[in-house]
Amino acid sequence: MATATQAVRLEDNVTRFVSQTRKMLINGKWVEAASGKTFPTYNPATGEILAQVAEGDREDINRAVAAARAAFESGPWSKMTPSERGRLIWKLADLIEKHTEEFAQIESLDNGKPLTIARIADVPGTVDMFRYMAGWATKIEGNTIPISAFGAKYLAYTLREPVGVVGQIIPWNFPLMMASWKLGPALAAGCCVVLKPAEQTPLSALRLGELIQEAGIPDGVVNVVPGYGETAGAALAAHPDVDKVAFTGSTEVGKLIVQAAAGNLKKVSLELGGKSPDIVFQDADLPATVPGVSSAIFFNHGQCCCAGSRLYVEEKAFDKVVEGVSAEASKIHLGPGLDPATEMGPLVSEEQLKRVTGYLEAGFKEGAKATVGGSRHGDKGYFVKPTVLVNTNQKMKVVQEEIFGPVVTAIPFRDVDDLIAKANNTVYGLAAGVWTKDITKAHQVASKLRAGTVWINTYNIFDPALPFGGYKQSGWGREMGHEVLELYTEVKSVCLPIS
Ligand code: ADP
Repeated sequence: MATATQAVRLEDNVTRFVSQTRKMLINGKWVEAASGKTFPTYNPATGEILAQVAEGDREDINRAVAAARAAFESGPWSKMTPSERGRLIWKLADLIEKHTEEFAQIESLDNGKPLTIARIADVPGTVDMFRYMAGWATKIEGNTIPISAFGAKYLAYTLREPVGVVGQIIPWNFPLMMASWKLGPALAAGCCVVLKPAEQTPLSALRLGELIQEAGIPDGVVNVVPGYGETAGAALAAHPDVDKVAFTGSTEVGKLIVQAAAGNLKKVSLELGGKSPDIVFQDADLPATVPGVSSAIFFNHGQCCCAGSRLYVEEKAFDKVVEGVSAEASKIHLGPGLDPATEMGPLVSEEQLKRVTGYLEAGFKEGAKATVGGSRHGDKGYFVKPTVLVNTNQKMKVVQEEIFGPVVTAIPFRDVDDLIAKANNTVYGLAAGVWTKDITKAHQVASKLRAGTVWINTYNIFDPALPFGGYKQSGWGREMGHEVLELYTEVKSVCLPIS
């Protein structure tokens, strides 16, 4: 196993985890791929292989779906009370919490993110999500409904039942937390799952699989099949015995998921890309706004679907804000995730490095200028310098397309209607930020933004109780909050005459 620095002593379980070929979890057993194939996962700080992982494909997905179906139809899961389900989900949360350091290290090694961030954001966020969803297991209710058909008397009520076998395909930017966003509500609702982690970051979901067993969640309820998107992911999305597919990833792949799901018209929920506007009025509290705007884009190296990647600043404050954000960017310490001094790690993969530097080149060709950053950092690992681009306009590729890296474009505005038009001039609608001391203006602007989340005088605030999802091509449905339970339940109307 290769790591750039060993500033932190690796937990024994982490060393164990990366020193053996990782198998997949199907029906409570850790098994090799049917093909016997494995694939490497890399340490993005060095570009070296971190571990080998069983490479799931169609046949493995078939096995996993069959296991999930059996667990759903006739296994102990289907007979379990909501209270028992909730208790097991809570137990899983406790186990994850107990292994916080281990998960943080796995996440940092596999994804590149700073260990310090994984410890305070990714792992506690995951624990919170499972605890919140554990509480929901006993609170999923139907209604009794007064109906008037034919003037007779009826007892009519609705039941909320689990949607069934769910395929869940997750991305690499918050590997563990995305697994919890998907598994938490599915388990609370009583569904059984086949989870496919991203090929770039399969390790934390596999370790989570071990804890799912330790928590006592019955065999087959959660199956974890690592593999590539075009093979394992596509097979899961198209599988005729999967009742629902939940996907988080790019808008491009989201459209493929929708097509694949059409075969059996499985339910689909999607959390996709973004190009979120972050709007600063001249009356904003700049000492708080500048670091806020900076973290809105640079948190997680810009690898957030809701990253505040389009900065719009009222003309009179433009220079000051751009200067401030550029100064913040230049202070960010880049390094391997395991180094305690690191504030920003490498991008997740060579592909992402090429993608982000490709966008920078395209921006420069169209006339954009970098006030800070603008290139790769070093020649080892996949680091990109935090970058602020000015001289940009609405038509440029860097303003229109999702870069998914530490790159923000800055554009001045004068008129609020023009600003709103520009902010909404995108195929996406995931999130937005508004920074001002004028509360009326903040709410007026928030109401006009076509986005699933609007943060005012803050950014990137997530909570398991707060729904998150996108307008337009940023997705279908809302994750978290009680809204997410609608994605994992079917409504059954039951009606009988009582007179
Ligand atoms: P990114 O472009 O950020 O890597 P993707 O949308 O490609 O994000 O990947 C998100 C998830 O979707 C990953 O788990 C990946 O394996 C999976 N995936 C990629 N292509 C497909 C596909 N054609 N069908 C199903 N899943 C896919």
